[in-house]
Amino acid sequence: MKCPFCGSIHDQVLDSRPIEHTSAVRRRRECSNCKKRYTTFERPEEVTIMVVKSDGRREPFDRKKIWTGIDRACKKRSISVETIDKIVNEVENDIMGEYVMEIPSNTIGDKILEKLWDVDLVAYVRFASVYRKFGDIDTFMQELKKLKKEHMKRNSKK
Ligand SMILES: [Zn+2]
Repeated sequence: MKCPFCGSIHDQVLDSRPIEHTSAVRRRRECSNCKKRYTTFERPEEVTIMVVKSDGRREPFDRKKIWTGIDRACKKRSISVETIDKIVNEVENDIMGEYVMEIPSNTIGDKILEKLWDVDLVAYVRFASVYRKFGDIDTFMQELKKLKKEHMKRNSKK
């Protein structure tokens, strides 16, 4: 396994557990070089989940892509690597649990947005703006307004 932080291929497996109802295994690893921890998700090659993109093309599910997207949205926010890792794990877990062969890419995007919502609103908006590709500033402002309203509603419930 290649460390996502420093690229070293030397690591130590700390924990290994099968995912319910699937043939996949989650492994917690520690990089022997930079000592950072990360999680890998391993499943037999032949059951790779395919992501169906909005234009109908399919590509194999790629955990790294999700990582990169979230990481970019969280840039300069006080969000730890562990939090990002946790979001990616949860999203991946959901996907593996719900879908057997393929999943629409916007379902993945929605799941990520759901998690980011609870973590950081700025990261949420950033991710949403990339992922939903707001065509113009009006749609973006609408989304922001909606967010604000929902946020206030949630806070008043607490
Ligand atoms: Zn490393």
